[in-house]
Amino acid sequence: MSAYADRLQELAIAAADRCTGCGKCFEVCPTAREIGLDAGEATQRVAELSALTRDGAAATSGLEQWLNACDGSARCTAACPEGINVRQWITIAKLKAIEATRPVEQGAANAASRFRHMAQAVRLLASMQLPSDTLRRILAPAEKRAADVLFYTGCNVLRTPHIVLNVMDILDALKLDFDVVGGTAHCCGVYQFQEADLPTYERIGHRTFQRFGQSGASHVLTWCPTCTKNFGELEEDVEAPSFDLGHVSEFLAANLDALKAGFKAEQPRRRVVVHEHLGIGATVESIAKLLRAVPNLELIELPQDSGFSYACGGVAAKYKEREAAIHRGLAEAAVAAGADTIVTMYHSCHRAFAGAEAVYPLKVVNFTDVIAEALGRGGHPDYYSLYKKGGAMDEAVAAARKFLQSNGVKIDEASVQSLTADIFNETGLAGSREAFASAFTELARQG
Ligand code: SF4
Ligand code: SF4
Repeated sequence: MSAYADRLQELAIAAADRCTGCGKCFEVCPTAREIGLDAGEATQRVAELSALTRDGAAATSGLEQWLNACDGSARCTAACPEGINVRQWITIAKLKAIEATRPVEQGAANAASRFRHMAQAVRLLASMQLPSDTLRRILAPAEKRAADVLFYTGCNVLRTPHIVLNVMDILDALKLDFDVVGGTAHCCGVYQFQEADLPTYERIGHRTFQRFGQSGASHVLTWCPTCTKNFGELEEDVEAPSFDLGHVSEFLAANLDALKAGFKAEQPRRRVVVHEHLGIGATVESIAKLLRAVPNLELIELPQDSGFSYACGGVAAKYKEREAAIHRGLAEAAVAAGADTIVTMYHSCHRAFAGAEAVYPLKVVNFTDVIAEALGRGGHPDYYSLYKKGGAMDEAVAAARKFLQSNGVKIDEASVQSLTADIFNETGLAGSREAFASAFTELARQG
């Protein structure tokens, strides 16, 4: 085993040593209930988890189902009376359970295929929406940066890059010495870890984390909830880094006084509902705190299913019906409460809600849209939302033509088909896929 694998095992053993076997973590697990596992078997499931951790005992059927059902909600961690990071324990246990039953080559092939698909979609969507100088700045190697603060985007937010531009505007307004870094060359390695391909994970995710340290930055601000979870639990706890690590929203909330000083009084009147996800630090509280400070904005708090997953999509996408019910339920409750805007926390949630404007009398914006606008900045077009809404694609196609040329990237009809499936097969609200497919197929034909 590598030193990194040894350290993961130490973390899991430490959790098993502290665990009293009370079973509260299993009792509250939303995905265990979703797949019909009996809360009355909680102490048995946790005893099996401890046995797997200590002896490498093969996972029983019940434990295997629990591990496979996990979508990272962290309700278990919140419920544990001993303060154990149960989500981290479960994540490491799942890796061990897969390692025991499947050759690493099979997981490596799965991970490589998933990574290739994601990288191609991210590359195309970023090239359709960003100018080449901005894209080059984001993709430059992390270890060569010299700024005190690194804003780490991860990979998938580049499908909705106006969010990245908003955060850059906000950090600019704070007059920080910052740089932005991301893209697939700085992946957090989530696919490799999920597929138990630890050697490749170490070369990708573990290496990305080390490159942040090599840059000499004192703060790394994460955006992606998956990167935040992975780096927080699989890196920061493995070896203390030389920098502070935390989500952008938490950093902005901690700097609220400086932000408020820059807020313009003339803001549109809005009644907003935040689409919430628990599970990633203090992001819900931080975003609410930021929004409450924006002039003319009324934050409406609604009961919602915020504990089912730490973000939309990703592992939670396998619970398609539950996710769809969460999206529809929140949009309908927002309309009934007289809200005019849904505010998203993360990029995957933004993609899920981006087409809601085609279905409900609601605007959909990310919290970074609101904060950047309050500072008199922002205003970057949300082309992804145009894709999802359907209707006339003239603006989206004109922008894509310009940005693809600037990036030296061509799309072909096969890529448009693949992108259409990517965008419209995701759980979420959307208008017709036909408008996007036909307009971008025509763009591809024109070359
Ligand atoms: S992280 Fe959430 S889904 Fe996973 S075991 Fe814990 S409670 Fe269940
Ligand atoms: S809630 Fe904590 S102490 Fe109780 S069984 Fe789960 S991990 Fe162990």
